[in-house]
Amino acid sequence: MIKETFGSIPLISLSENNNPIIDILSQLISFDTTTSNDTLEAVFWVKRYLKNYGLNVRLIYNPSKTRASLVASFIRNTTDKSVIFCGHLDVVPVNQKNWQTNPFALTKKQDKLFGRGASDMKGGIAVILSLVPTLIQQQKNFIIILTHNEETTGTGIQEVLNDSYVRSFLHNVAGCIVAEPTNSCLVLGHKTATAGTITLTGKPAHSSHPDLAVNALFHAVEIYKNFYFLASRLSQQTDNDFEIPHSVADILIFNAGTAVNVIPAEASLTYSCRFISEQAEQTFLAELEKDIYTYANQIKGLSVHFDNHLHIPALETTQNNLFVQKLLSVFAFGPYKKVSFGTEAGYFSLLGIPTVVCGPGNIEQAHQDNEFITEEQLYYYYNQLKQLFL
Ligand SMILES: [Zn+2]
Repeated sequence: MIKETFGSIPLISLSENNNPIIDILSQLISFDTTTSNDTLEAVFWVKRYLKNYGLNVRLIYNPSKTRASLVASFIRNTTDKSVIFCGHLDVVPVNQKNWQTNPFALTKKQDKLFGRGASDMKGGIAVILSLVPTLIQQQKNFIIILTHNEETTGTGIQEVLNDSYVRSFLHNVAGCIVAEPTNSCLVLGHKTATAGTITLTGKPAHSSHPDLAVNALFHAVEIYKNFYFLASRLSQQTDNDFEIPHSVADILIFNAGTAVNVIPAEASLTYSCRFISEQAEQTFLAELEKDIYTYANQIKGLSVHFDNHLHIPALETTQNNLFVQKLLSVFAFGPYKKVSFGTEAGYFSLLGIPTVVCGPGNIEQAHQDNEFITEEQLYYYYNQLKQLFL
């Protein structure tokens, strides 16, 4: 665990142009916050930055205390509702040989700023942090949540939203902005990210004696067919705010068999789905489980086990609420009001908080070699947000 000292960490040194957005982004990029490492050094730096402005800052650690999320609040009065700004500090790994610049040193070439996380999503975080002095000056209630592990399991946001202190102020929130890259377009919804594994256990036998075996692979194929029969019905429920206007479900990993003379006793199918709503997910998975148990119960010696290992909730915000209407005075929708990629916004949506995804940079840059954001994208987002709070 890194000690919470700041000895050599500069707070913020203004660049030649006196540009805090670029300086903060440069600082954030310099911390290698690849999810497999940790984000503590970056978290401590942000904590120090925010404490300097008098914010109340709380760190919420993972169980092994190797990573932390940060929750900072500025609540001047209890009559006004707060706005939450949310982002993740972790970034996906880099393939160094494909980078033309050091991914952990913000590098400017023409109007592009290169660095891992420039778009996803340290650019958005840098803008939010640079807005802090304005928000304080305007005496606005606001909360900043920066998580870890967003790019893998999403445990950071779950730890934050299970924290009793955080829960205590969530009831007085106007809405939440998740600053993932959307080209500063307003996004009201996204699909779930859902994955799970179905494991079948039968009975092995020598291939010459199928009469003694329960062939798990054979039955897995029957279940595979059943899965796609159910999946084919998903296109009947549509939502045209999405580019692909229906839920999608696929089996992407199929494991079975060990040798040419052994009838396999185990088989597993791993599915990956994107549902247009929480309800669509519940309906599909309930039907799938029911069908599979009904099938397995008819086969003597066959057992089935479900393991649902991923569920990022759908974001389901309606346009018809005050928070969204206010945002629409400064931001516009893109070609689609809802997007395919999952974010932490779904967790706020589940709690009934009006939540949008809206941040600088382009999702096409996310997770790419030579990731960049443009200065123009950062300034546009900054100016629109500033207008919102003046
Ligand atoms: Zn992201």
